[in-house]
Amino acid sequence: MKLSKMILGTLREAPGETELESYKLMVRAGIIRKVASGIYNFMPTGKKVIGNVNNLIKNEMEKIDSQEIEVSQFVPFELLNQCNNKESSLTDTFETVDKSEKKFYVGADFKEPYIEIVKNEIKSYKQLPVSIYSIQKQIKDEPKPKFGIIKSKEFNELQCYVFHDDLTESSQYINSLCEVFNSIYHKCRIDSIKTNSLRFFIKHPLGEEHVVCCESCGYKEDLEIATCTLQTEEEDDMKPMNKISTPDTRTIDELASLFNTTPEYFVKTIIYKINNKIVAVMVRGDREVNETKVKNRIGHVVSFELADEETVRYATSAEIGFAGPINLKCDTLLVDEEITRMRNFMVGANDTGYHYECVNYERDFTGTVGDFKKITEKDKCPVCGNSINIENAMGLGQIMNLKTTYSENMNAVFLDKLGKSKPMSIINASINIDRLLALIVEQNHDKNGIVWPKSVAPYEVIVIAAVFKNEEQMKTAENIYNKLKSLGIDVLLDDRDERAGVKFKDADLIGAPIRITVGKRISDGKVEFKLRNNDNVEDIDIDDIEEKVLSELHRN
Ligand SMILES: [Zn+2]
Repeated sequence: MKLSKMILGTLREAPGETELESYKLMVRAGIIRKVASGIYNFMPTGKKVIGNVNNLIKNEMEKIDSQEIEVSQFVPFELLNQCNNKESSLTDTFETVDKSEKKFYVGADFKEPYIEIVKNEIKSYKQLPVSIYSIQKQIKDEPKPKFGIIKSKEFNELQCYVFHDDLTESSQYINSLCEVFNSIYHKCRIDSIKTNSLRFFIKHPLGEEHVVCCESCGYKEDLEIATCTLQTEEEDDMKPMNKISTPDTRTIDELASLFNTTPEYFVKTIIYKINNKIVAVMVRGDREVNETKVKNRIGHVVSFELADEETVRYATSAEIGFAGPINLKCDTLLVDEEITRMRNFMVGANDTGYHYECVNYERDFTGTVGDFKKITEKDKCPVCGNSINIENAMGLGQIMNLKTTYSENMNAVFLDKLGKSKPMSIINASINIDRLLALIVEQNHDKNGIVWPKSVAPYEVIVIAAVFKNEEQMKTAENIYNKLKSLGIDVLLDDRDERAGVKFKDADLIGAPIRITVGKRISDGKVEFKLRNNDNVEDIDIDDIEEKVLSELHRN
Protein backbone atom coordinates (compact mmCIF):
# COMPACT_ATOMS: atom_id res chain seq x y z
CA MET A 1 0.00 0.00 0.00
CA LYS A 2 1.19 3.53 -0.76
CA LEU A 3 0.77 6.01 2.05
CA SER A 4 -0.08 8.78 -0.41
CA LYS A 5 -3.27 6.86 -1.27
CA MET A 6 -4.32 5.90 2.25
CA ILE A 7 -6.70 7.72 4.54
CA LEU A 8 -4.17 7.49 7.31
CA GLY A 9 -4.84 10.33 9.69
CA THR A 10 -1.97 10.14 12.15
CA LEU A 11 -2.17 12.62 14.99
CA ARG A 12 0.66 14.29 16.92
CA GLU A 13 -1.51 14.78 19.97
CA ALA A 14 -3.57 12.15 21.75
CA PRO A 15 -7.21 12.77 22.61
CA GLY A 16 -7.48 13.70 26.27
CA GLU A 17 -10.26 11.21 27.03
CA THR A 18 -8.39 8.44 28.82
CA GLU A 19 -5.08 7.92 30.50
CA LEU A 20 -4.73 4.56 28.82
CA GLU A 21 -1.73 4.55 26.49
CA SER A 22 -3.13 1.97 24.05
CA TYR A 23 -6.21 4.08 23.36
CA LYS A 24 -4.15 7.22 22.72
CA LEU A 25 -1.78 5.35 20.42
CA MET A 26 -4.55 3.61 18.48
CA VAL A 27 -6.26 6.93 17.81
CA ARG A 28 -2.95 8.66 17.01
CA ALA A 29 -1.89 5.85 14.65
CA GLY A 30 -5.21 6.05 12.79
CA ILE A 31 -6.36 2.57 13.88
CA ILE A 32 -9.71 3.48 15.44
CA ARG A 33 -12.04 6.47 15.42
CA LYS A 34 -14.77 7.12 17.95
CA VAL A 35 -18.39 7.17 16.74
CA ALA A 36 -20.10 7.53 20.12
CA SER A 37 -19.42 6.46 23.69
CA GLY A 38 -18.24 2.82 23.54
CA ILE A 39 -18.64 2.65 19.75
CA TYR A 40 -15.71 2.77 17.32
CA ASN A 41 -14.88 2.51 13.64
CA PHE A 42 -11.86 0.53 12.58
CA MET A 43 -9.82 2.45 10.00
CA PRO A 44 -7.81 0.63 7.25
CA THR A 45 -4.80 -0.06 9.50
CA GLY A 46 -7.09 -1.22 12.31
CA LYS A 47 -9.04 -3.47 9.96
CA LYS A 48 -5.76 -5.07 8.84
CA VAL A 49 -4.62 -5.78 12.42
CA ILE A 50 -7.99 -7.23 13.38
CA GLY A 51 -7.77 -9.44 10.26
CA ASN A 52 -4.27 -10.59 11.26
CA VAL A 53 -5.33 -11.38 14.83
CA ASN A 54 -8.34 -13.30 13.50
CA ASN A 55 -6.10 -15.32 11.17
CA LEU A 56 -3.69 -16.11 13.98
CA ILE A 57 -6.60 -17.38 16.09
CA LYS A 58 -8.06 -19.38 13.18
CA ASN A 59 -4.71 -21.14 12.66
CA GLU A 60 -4.62 -22.10 16.32
CA MET A 61 -8.24 -23.33 16.26
CA GLU A 62 -7.48 -25.47 13.22
CA LYS A 63 -4.73 -27.24 15.17
CA ILE A 64 -7.38 -28.61 17.56
CA ASP A 65 -9.76 -29.50 14.70
CA SER A 66 -12.29 -26.84 15.60
CA GLN A 67 -14.55 -25.85 12.71
CA GLU A 68 -15.49 -22.25 11.99
CA ILE A 69 -19.16 -21.40 11.70
CA GLU A 70 -21.14 -18.20 11.42
CA VAL A 71 -24.05 -17.85 13.79
CA SER A 72 -26.97 -15.55 13.05
CA GLN A 73 -26.97 -12.25 14.92
CA PHE A 74 -30.68 -12.82 15.63
CA VAL A 75 -31.62 -15.07 18.54
CA PRO A 76 -35.36 -15.85 18.76
CA PHE A 77 -36.81 -15.00 22.19
CA GLU A 78 -38.28 -18.48 22.54
CA LEU A 79 -34.86 -20.17 22.13
CA LEU A 80 -33.74 -18.57 25.38
CA ASN A 81 -37.07 -18.74 27.14
CA GLN A 82 -37.62 -22.45 26.42
CA CYS A 83 -34.43 -23.29 28.30
CA ASN A 84 -35.28 -21.00 31.19
CA ASN A 85 -31.67 -19.99 31.14
CA LYS A 86 -31.85 -16.24 31.17
CA GLU A 87 -28.57 -14.75 32.23
CA SER A 88 -27.74 -11.69 34.28
CA SER A 89 -26.33 -10.05 31.15
CA LEU A 90 -29.81 -10.02 29.65
CA THR A 91 -30.27 -6.42 30.74
CA ASP A 92 -27.28 -5.53 28.55
CA THR A 93 -28.66 -7.03 25.35
CA PHE A 94 -30.30 -5.32 22.40
CA GLU A 95 -33.73 -6.53 21.33
CA THR A 96 -35.78 -6.05 18.22
CA VAL A 97 -39.13 -7.02 16.72
CA ASP A 98 -39.58 -7.81 13.01
CA LYS A 99 -42.60 -6.81 10.91
CA SER A 100 -44.46 -9.98 11.90
CA GLU A 101 -44.05 -9.09 15.59
CA LYS A 102 -41.50 -11.84 16.17
CA LYS A 103 -39.05 -10.89 18.93
CA PHE A 104 -35.28 -11.35 18.75
CA TYR A 105 -32.22 -10.63 20.83
CA VAL A 106 -29.54 -9.10 18.60
CA GLY A 107 -25.81 -9.76 18.52
CA ALA A 108 -25.31 -10.99 22.07
CA ASP A 109 -23.00 -13.86 22.96
CA PHE A 110 -25.59 -16.37 24.14
CA LYS A 111 -24.66 -20.03 24.48
CA GLU A 112 -27.99 -21.41 23.30
CA PRO A 113 -27.62 -20.85 19.52
CA TYR A 114 -24.34 -22.80 19.46
CA ILE A 115 -25.77 -25.66 21.48
CA GLU A 116 -28.89 -25.67 19.28
CA ILE A 117 -26.71 -26.08 16.16
CA VAL A 118 -24.93 -29.14 17.52
CA LYS A 119 -28.06 -30.58 19.10
CA ASN A 120 -29.73 -30.62 15.67
CA GLU A 121 -26.78 -32.28 13.88
CA ILE A 122 -25.31 -34.76 16.37
CA LYS A 123 -27.25 -37.90 17.26
CA SER A 124 -24.68 -40.56 18.16
CA TYR A 125 -21.56 -40.95 20.29
CA LYS A 126 -19.80 -41.85 17.01
CA GLN A 127 -20.02 -38.18 15.97
CA LEU A 128 -18.41 -36.91 19.17
CA PRO A 129 -16.26 -35.07 20.19
CA VAL A 130 -16.97 -32.08 18.00
CA SER A 131 -15.73 -28.52 18.24
CA ILE A 132 -17.13 -25.36 16.62
CA TYR A 133 -16.08 -21.74 16.83
CA SER A 134 -17.04 -18.35 15.48
CA ILE A 135 -15.28 -15.02 15.25
CA GLN A 136 -18.03 -12.44 15.06
CA LYS A 137 -19.16 -9.01 16.19
CA GLN A 138 -21.03 -9.06 19.47
CA ILE A 139 -23.07 -6.15 20.66
CA LYS A 140 -23.85 -5.39 24.24
CA ASP A 141 -25.39 -2.33 25.88
CA GLU A 142 -22.35 -1.80 28.09
CA PRO A 143 -23.51 0.76 30.68
CA LYS A 144 -20.02 2.06 31.46
CA PRO A 145 -17.82 1.92 28.35
CA LYS A 146 -14.19 2.69 29.17
CA PHE A 147 -10.64 2.67 27.81
CA GLY A 148 -11.62 2.72 24.12
CA ILE A 149 -12.06 -0.77 22.66
CA ILE A 150 -11.12 -2.47 25.95
CA LYS A 151 -14.67 -2.07 27.28
CA SER A 152 -16.98 -1.16 24.42
CA LYS A 153 -20.51 -1.79 23.21
CA GLU A 154 -19.46 -3.65 20.06
CA PHE A 155 -16.54 -6.01 19.72
CA ASN A 156 -15.15 -8.95 17.75
CA GLU A 157 -15.18 -12.11 19.80
CA LEU A 158 -13.98 -15.69 19.56
CA GLN A 159 -16.59 -18.13 20.85
CA CYS A 160 -15.65 -21.80 20.88
CA TYR A 161 -17.85 -24.72 21.98
CA VAL A 162 -16.59 -28.27 22.40
CA PHE A 163 -18.97 -31.22 22.85
CA HIS A 164 -17.94 -34.56 24.34
CA ASP A 165 -19.77 -37.76 25.15
CA ASP A 166 -17.93 -38.11 28.43
CA LEU A 167 -17.26 -35.71 31.31
CA THR A 168 -13.73 -37.04 31.93
CA GLU A 169 -12.63 -36.63 28.32
CA SER A 170 -14.21 -33.22 28.29
CA SER A 171 -12.21 -32.14 31.35
CA GLN A 172 -8.99 -33.45 29.81
CA TYR A 173 -9.67 -31.49 26.62
CA ILE A 174 -9.49 -28.26 28.62
CA ASN A 175 -5.68 -28.66 28.62
CA SER A 176 -5.66 -28.45 24.80
CA LEU A 177 -7.71 -25.26 24.95
CA CYS A 178 -5.34 -23.78 27.54
CA GLU A 179 -2.43 -24.54 25.19
CA VAL A 180 -4.27 -22.78 22.36
CA PHE A 181 -4.91 -19.73 24.53
CA ASN A 182 -1.30 -19.63 25.73
CA SER A 183 -0.04 -19.94 22.18
CA ILE A 184 -2.30 -17.09 20.99
CA TYR A 185 -1.14 -14.80 23.80
CA HIS A 186 2.50 -15.77 23.30
CA LYS A 187 2.34 -15.00 19.57
CA CYS A 188 0.69 -11.66 20.36
CA ARG A 189 3.60 -10.98 22.78
CA ILE A 190 1.20 -10.72 25.70
CA ASP A 191 2.28 -11.62 29.20
CA SER A 192 -0.82 -13.39 30.50
CA ILE A 193 -1.85 -14.82 33.86
CA LYS A 194 -4.01 -17.95 34.03
CA THR A 195 -6.15 -18.38 37.14
CA ASN A 196 -7.24 -21.66 38.72
CA SER A 197 -10.72 -21.08 37.31
CA LEU A 198 -9.24 -20.73 33.77
CA ARG A 199 -9.68 -17.01 33.35
CA PHE A 200 -6.85 -15.21 31.60
CA PHE A 201 -5.69 -11.71 32.58
CA ILE A 202 -2.87 -9.24 32.17
CA LYS A 203 -1.67 -7.29 35.18
CA HIS A 204 -2.38 -3.59 34.70
CA PRO A 205 -2.37 -0.74 37.24
CA LEU A 206 -5.56 0.72 35.72
CA GLY A 207 -7.36 -2.64 35.43
CA GLU A 208 -10.79 -2.73 37.02
CA GLU A 209 -10.59 -6.46 37.70
CA HIS A 210 -8.41 -8.06 40.37
CA VAL A 211 -6.40 -11.24 40.65
CA VAL A 212 -5.44 -12.78 43.98
CA CYS A 213 -1.87 -14.13 43.74
CA CYS A 214 0.14 -16.25 46.17
CA GLU A 215 3.88 -16.12 45.55
CA SER A 216 4.54 -19.14 47.78
CA CYS A 217 2.43 -21.76 45.99
CA GLY A 218 1.44 -20.00 42.75
CA TYR A 219 -2.29 -19.84 43.55
CA LYS A 220 -3.95 -17.34 41.22
CA GLU A 221 -7.63 -16.55 41.21
CA ASP A 222 -10.07 -13.89 40.12
CA LEU A 223 -10.96 -11.83 43.20
CA GLU A 224 -14.64 -12.33 42.37
CA ILE A 225 -14.39 -16.03 43.20
CA ALA A 226 -11.17 -16.29 45.22
CA THR A 227 -11.41 -17.88 48.65
CA CYS A 228 -9.08 -17.73 51.66
CA THR A 229 -8.02 -19.85 54.62
CA LEU A 230 -10.68 -19.54 57.30
CA GLN A 231 -9.72 -18.39 60.76
CA THR A 232 -9.73 -21.09 63.45
CA GLU A 233 -12.95 -21.50 65.35
CA GLU A 234 -13.15 -19.35 68.49
CA GLU A 235 -13.53 -21.53 71.57
CA ASP A 236 -14.82 -18.96 74.07
CA ASP A 237 -17.98 -19.95 75.95
CA MET A 238 -21.20 -18.58 74.56
CA LYS A 239 -22.49 -15.77 76.76
CA PRO A 240 -26.17 -14.92 77.08
CA MET A 241 -27.45 -12.67 74.32
CA ASN A 242 -28.28 -9.18 75.45
CA LYS A 243 -30.07 -6.22 73.86
CA ILE A 244 -28.21 -2.96 74.43
CA SER A 245 -28.96 0.67 73.70
CA THR A 246 -26.75 2.14 70.95
CA PRO A 247 -28.43 5.44 70.10
CA ASP A 248 -27.23 7.18 66.91
CA THR A 249 -24.67 4.50 66.09
CA ARG A 250 -25.58 3.27 62.65
CA THR A 251 -22.25 2.31 61.10
CA ILE A 252 -19.75 -0.31 62.13
CA ASP A 253 -17.10 2.39 62.64
CA GLU A 254 -19.40 4.33 64.99
CA LEU A 255 -20.10 1.12 66.92
CA ALA A 256 -16.41 0.25 67.10
CA SER A 257 -15.55 3.64 68.52
CA LEU A 258 -18.50 3.50 70.98
CA PHE A 259 -17.25 0.17 72.34
CA ASN A 260 -13.60 1.10 71.91
CA THR A 261 -12.84 -1.92 69.78
CA THR A 262 -12.28 -2.85 66.09
CA PRO A 263 -14.86 -3.65 63.36
CA GLU A 264 -14.07 -7.38 63.23
CA TYR A 265 -15.95 -7.93 66.52
CA PHE A 266 -19.19 -6.96 64.76
CA VAL A 267 -21.21 -8.58 62.05
CA LYS A 268 -23.01 -6.49 59.45
CA THR A 269 -26.20 -7.35 57.64
CA ILE A 270 -26.58 -5.87 54.17
CA ILE A 271 -30.00 -6.01 52.55
CA TYR A 272 -30.44 -6.48 48.79
CA LYS A 273 -33.37 -6.80 46.43
CA ILE A 274 -32.60 -9.69 44.09
CA ASN A 275 -35.17 -10.84 41.53
CA ASN A 276 -37.67 -8.76 43.55
CA LYS A 277 -36.99 -10.82 46.69
CA ILE A 278 -35.41 -9.50 49.89
CA VAL A 279 -32.00 -11.11 50.42
CA ALA A 280 -29.91 -10.25 53.49
CA VAL A 281 -26.18 -10.99 53.47
CA MET A 282 -24.10 -11.17 56.66
CA VAL A 283 -20.33 -10.61 56.69
CA ARG A 284 -17.85 -9.73 59.42
CA GLY A 285 -17.84 -6.00 60.29
CA ASP A 286 -14.53 -5.20 58.57
CA ARG A 287 -15.52 -7.09 55.40
CA GLU A 288 -17.30 -6.17 52.19
CA VAL A 289 -19.89 -8.37 50.52
CA ASN A 290 -18.68 -9.98 47.28
CA GLU A 291 -21.75 -9.46 45.13
CA THR A 292 -20.57 -11.91 42.46
CA LYS A 293 -20.50 -14.71 45.02
CA VAL A 294 -24.01 -13.72 46.14
CA LYS A 295 -25.26 -13.74 42.53
CA ASN A 296 -23.63 -17.11 41.89
CA ARG A 297 -25.31 -18.55 44.97
CA ILE A 298 -28.76 -17.19 44.05
CA GLY A 299 -28.44 -18.25 40.37
CA HIS A 300 -30.47 -16.94 37.39
CA VAL A 301 -30.24 -13.36 38.61
CA VAL A 302 -32.36 -11.02 36.49
CA SER A 303 -32.35 -7.98 38.79
CA PHE A 304 -29.89 -7.11 41.55
CA GLU A 305 -29.70 -3.97 43.66
CA LEU A 306 -29.12 -2.73 47.20
CA ALA A 307 -32.49 -2.47 48.95
CA ASP A 308 -34.03 1.00 49.02
CA GLU A 309 -34.78 2.70 52.36
CA GLU A 310 -38.42 1.67 52.28
CA THR A 311 -37.52 -2.01 51.87
CA VAL A 312 -34.95 -1.82 54.67
CA ARG A 313 -37.53 -0.21 56.98
CA TYR A 314 -40.02 -2.95 56.10
CA ALA A 315 -37.52 -5.78 56.62
CA THR A 316 -36.08 -4.47 59.90
CA SER A 317 -39.07 -2.56 61.32
CA ALA A 318 -36.46 0.09 62.16
CA GLU A 319 -34.53 3.04 60.76
CA ILE A 320 -31.51 2.41 58.53
CA GLY A 321 -28.42 1.21 60.40
CA PHE A 322 -29.91 -1.33 62.81
CA ALA A 323 -30.35 -4.41 60.59
CA GLY A 324 -29.58 -7.82 62.06
CA PRO A 325 -30.52 -11.49 61.54
CA ILE A 326 -32.92 -11.88 64.45
CA ASN A 327 -36.60 -11.29 63.53
CA LEU A 328 -35.58 -9.96 60.11
CA LYS A 329 -38.29 -10.14 57.44
CA CYS A 330 -36.40 -11.49 54.45
CA ASP A 331 -36.82 -14.21 51.83
CA THR A 332 -33.23 -15.45 52.12
CA LEU A 333 -30.53 -14.92 54.75
CA LEU A 334 -27.01 -15.61 53.49
CA VAL A 335 -24.40 -16.03 56.22
CA ASP A 336 -20.69 -15.88 55.47
CA GLU A 337 -19.00 -19.05 56.77
CA GLU A 338 -16.57 -16.98 58.83
CA ILE A 339 -19.44 -15.91 61.09
CA THR A 340 -20.20 -19.49 62.12
CA ARG A 341 -16.68 -19.60 63.67
CA MET A 342 -17.07 -16.38 65.66
CA ARG A 343 -18.24 -16.17 69.27
CA ASN A 344 -20.28 -13.52 71.08
CA PHE A 345 -20.44 -10.94 68.32
CA MET A 346 -22.66 -7.91 67.94
CA VAL A 347 -25.43 -7.40 65.37
CA GLY A 348 -28.21 -4.87 64.75
CA ALA A 349 -31.41 -5.58 66.74
CA ASN A 350 -33.92 -4.56 64.03
CA ASP A 351 -35.01 -1.88 66.49
CA THR A 352 -34.00 1.75 66.12
CA GLY A 353 -31.21 2.60 68.57
CA TYR A 354 -30.48 -0.98 69.65
CA HIS A 355 -28.01 -3.79 68.97
CA TYR A 356 -27.68 -7.32 70.33
CA GLU A 357 -24.39 -8.33 71.94
CA CYS A 358 -23.09 -11.85 72.53
CA VAL A 359 -24.85 -13.26 69.49
CA ASN A 360 -23.87 -16.71 68.23
CA TYR A 361 -24.68 -18.51 65.01
CA GLU A 362 -27.00 -21.51 65.34
CA ARG A 363 -28.03 -20.71 68.92
CA ASP A 364 -29.56 -17.30 68.00
CA PHE A 365 -30.19 -17.49 64.25
CA THR A 366 -29.54 -19.65 61.21
CA GLY A 367 -29.30 -19.04 57.48
CA THR A 368 -27.70 -20.31 54.29
CA VAL A 369 -23.98 -20.57 55.03
CA GLY A 370 -21.42 -19.99 52.28
CA ASP A 371 -18.54 -17.80 51.11
CA PHE A 372 -19.94 -14.31 50.51
CA LYS A 373 -16.99 -12.09 51.43
CA LYS A 374 -14.53 -10.09 49.41
CA ILE A 375 -10.96 -11.29 50.01
CA THR A 376 -8.39 -8.67 51.07
CA GLU A 377 -4.60 -8.68 51.32
CA LYS A 378 -4.95 -9.38 55.06
CA ASP A 379 -6.31 -12.84 54.18
CA LYS A 380 -4.22 -15.95 53.72
CA CYS A 381 -3.87 -18.19 50.65
CA PRO A 382 -6.58 -20.89 50.62
CA VAL A 383 -4.05 -23.47 49.40
CA CYS A 384 -0.90 -22.93 51.47
CA GLY A 385 -1.96 -20.40 54.12
CA ASN A 386 0.77 -17.87 53.23
CA SER A 387 0.34 -14.17 52.43
CA ILE A 388 -1.40 -13.12 49.23
CA ASN A 389 -1.34 -9.99 47.13
CA ILE A 390 -4.09 -8.59 44.98
CA GLU A 391 -3.14 -7.26 41.56
CA ASN A 392 -5.18 -4.93 39.33
CA ALA A 393 -5.81 -6.70 36.06
CA MET A 394 -7.65 -6.68 32.74
CA GLY A 395 -9.45 -9.79 31.49
CA LEU A 396 -8.26 -11.46 28.28
CA GLY A 397 -10.47 -14.50 27.91
CA GLN A 398 -11.86 -17.52 29.70
CA ILE A 399 -12.51 -21.24 29.44
CA MET A 400 -15.60 -22.60 31.16
CA ASN A 401 -16.51 -26.20 31.79
CA LEU A 402 -20.30 -26.06 31.43
CA LYS A 403 -20.47 -29.84 31.96
CA THR A 404 -24.02 -31.03 31.23
CA THR A 405 -26.03 -28.16 32.76
CA TYR A 406 -26.95 -26.52 29.45
CA SER A 407 -27.39 -29.76 27.54
CA GLU A 408 -29.79 -31.05 30.20
CA ASN A 409 -31.83 -27.83 30.02
CA MET A 410 -31.86 -27.83 26.23
CA ASN A 411 -32.18 -31.58 25.79
CA ALA A 412 -28.93 -31.68 23.79
CA VAL A 413 -28.52 -35.46 23.93
CA PHE A 414 -26.87 -38.29 21.97
CA LEU A 415 -27.17 -42.07 21.96
CA ASP A 416 -24.27 -43.83 23.70
CA LYS A 417 -22.78 -47.24 22.82
CA LEU A 418 -25.68 -49.03 24.54
CA GLY A 419 -28.27 -46.92 22.71
CA LYS A 420 -29.01 -44.90 25.83
CA SER A 421 -29.79 -41.20 25.61
CA LYS A 422 -27.24 -38.99 27.41
CA PRO A 423 -26.60 -35.24 27.70
CA MET A 424 -23.44 -33.91 26.01
CA SER A 425 -20.60 -32.42 28.08
CA ILE A 426 -19.87 -28.88 26.92
CA ILE A 427 -16.85 -26.58 27.21
CA ASN A 428 -17.01 -22.92 26.21
CA ALA A 429 -13.96 -20.74 25.50
CA SER A 430 -14.03 -17.07 24.56
CA ILE A 431 -11.71 -14.17 23.80
CA ASN A 432 -12.74 -10.53 23.28
CA ILE A 433 -10.55 -9.85 20.24
CA ASP A 434 -10.87 -6.05 20.28
CA ARG A 435 -9.69 -6.03 23.86
CA LEU A 436 -6.87 -8.42 22.95
CA LEU A 437 -5.80 -5.98 20.23
CA ALA A 438 -5.77 -3.05 22.68
CA LEU A 439 -3.82 -5.11 25.22
CA ILE A 440 -1.24 -6.04 22.57
CA VAL A 441 -0.65 -2.30 22.15
CA GLU A 442 -0.74 -1.81 25.92
CA GLN A 443 2.14 -4.28 26.33
CA ASN A 444 4.00 -3.47 23.10
CA HIS A 445 4.73 0.23 22.75
CA ASP A 446 7.36 2.84 23.58
CA LYS A 447 7.27 6.63 23.83
CA ASN A 448 7.24 6.97 20.03
CA GLY A 449 4.42 4.62 19.19
CA ILE A 450 3.29 1.04 18.73
CA VAL A 451 5.81 -1.82 18.42
CA TRP A 452 3.68 -4.49 16.72
CA PRO A 453 4.61 -8.15 17.12
CA LYS A 454 5.43 -9.55 13.67
CA SER A 455 2.53 -11.99 13.95
CA VAL A 456 -0.17 -9.30 13.82
CA ALA A 457 1.56 -6.15 12.49
CA PRO A 458 -0.64 -4.30 9.94
CA TYR A 459 2.47 -3.94 7.75
CA GLU A 460 5.66 -5.98 8.00
CA VAL A 461 7.89 -3.40 6.33
CA ILE A 462 7.69 0.34 5.75
CA VAL A 463 9.84 1.81 2.97
CA ILE A 464 10.60 5.53 3.21
CA ALA A 465 11.99 7.79 0.52
CA ALA A 466 13.75 10.47 2.61
CA VAL A 467 13.51 13.33 0.10
CA PHE A 468 10.34 13.53 -1.94
CA LYS A 469 11.90 15.79 -4.58
CA ASN A 470 14.84 13.42 -5.14
CA GLU A 471 13.73 11.35 -8.13
CA GLU A 472 16.41 8.67 -7.68
CA GLN A 473 15.38 8.10 -4.06
CA MET A 474 11.71 7.95 -4.96
CA LYS A 475 12.32 5.55 -7.82
CA THR A 476 14.55 3.24 -5.76
CA ALA A 477 12.06 3.25 -2.89
CA GLU A 478 9.28 2.28 -5.28
CA ASN A 479 11.41 -0.52 -6.78
CA ILE A 480 12.12 -1.93 -3.32
CA TYR A 481 8.42 -1.67 -2.50
CA ASN A 482 7.42 -3.56 -5.67
CA LYS A 483 10.08 -6.21 -5.12
CA LEU A 484 9.00 -6.91 -1.52
CA LYS A 485 5.35 -6.89 -2.52
CA SER A 486 6.02 -9.49 -5.22
CA LEU A 487 7.47 -11.72 -2.49
CA GLY A 488 4.14 -11.63 -0.66
CA ILE A 489 5.43 -9.28 2.04
CA ASP A 490 2.99 -6.78 3.49
CA VAL A 491 4.77 -3.52 2.74
CA LEU A 492 3.89 0.14 3.08
CA LEU A 493 5.57 2.82 0.95
CA ASP A 494 5.76 6.31 2.40
CA ASP A 495 5.75 8.27 -0.87
CA ARG A 496 4.15 11.39 0.61
CA ASP A 497 5.47 14.87 0.00
CA GLU A 498 6.53 15.26 3.63
CA ARG A 499 9.78 15.97 5.47
CA ALA A 500 11.86 12.93 6.43
CA GLY A 501 11.31 13.74 10.12
CA VAL A 502 7.53 13.51 9.73
CA LYS A 503 7.85 10.18 7.92
CA PHE A 504 10.09 8.71 10.63
CA LYS A 505 7.67 9.84 13.34
CA ASP A 506 4.72 8.25 11.54
CA ALA A 507 6.69 5.05 10.90
CA ASP A 508 7.42 4.75 14.63
CA LEU A 509 3.80 5.50 15.49
CA ILE A 510 2.38 2.92 13.03
CA GLY A 511 4.94 0.43 14.32
CA ALA A 512 5.84 -1.79 11.34
CA PRO A 513 8.57 -4.19 12.55
CA ILE A 514 11.06 -3.26 9.76
CA ARG A 515 11.90 0.20 8.36
CA ILE A 516 13.92 0.69 5.17
CA THR A 517 15.01 4.24 4.38
CA VAL A 518 16.25 5.28 0.96
CA GLY A 519 18.42 8.37 1.52
CA LYS A 520 21.77 9.97 0.64
CA ARG A 521 23.80 6.74 0.61
CA ILE A 522 21.87 5.53 -2.37
CA SER A 523 24.87 6.83 -4.42
CA ASP A 524 26.91 3.96 -2.85
CA GLY A 525 24.11 1.49 -3.47
CA LYS A 526 23.16 1.45 0.25
CA VAL A 527 19.93 1.93 2.19
CA GLU A 528 19.20 2.12 5.92
CA PHE A 529 17.73 -0.93 7.63
CA LYS A 530 16.18 -0.56 11.09
CA LEU A 531 14.03 -2.70 13.32
CA ARG A 532 11.22 -1.00 15.24
CA ASN A 533 12.18 -2.68 18.51
CA ASN A 534 15.87 -1.78 18.22
CA ASP A 535 17.66 1.60 17.90
CA ASN A 536 20.47 0.29 15.65
CA VAL A 537 20.49 1.61 12.10
CA GLU A 538 22.38 -0.55 9.64
CA ASP A 539 23.53 0.41 6.15
CA ILE A 540 22.92 -2.51 3.82
CA ASP A 541 23.38 -3.12 0.09
CA ILE A 542 20.25 -2.75 -1.97
CA ASP A 543 20.89 -6.23 -3.36
CA ASP A 544 20.76 -7.71 0.16
CA ILE A 545 17.38 -6.27 1.13
CA GLU A 546 15.32 -9.26 0.09
CA GLU A 547 17.37 -11.79 2.06
CA LYS A 548 17.69 -9.49 5.07
CA VAL A 549 13.94 -8.82 5.26
CA LEU A 550 12.98 -12.48 4.83
CA SER A 551 15.43 -13.71 7.44
CA GLU A 552 14.23 -11.06 9.88
CA LEU A 553 10.55 -11.92 9.33
CA HIS A 554 11.14 -15.64 9.77
CA ARG A 555 13.28 -15.21 12.87
CA ASN A 556 11.49 -16.14 16.09
ZN1 LIG B 1 -0.41 -20.24 48.45
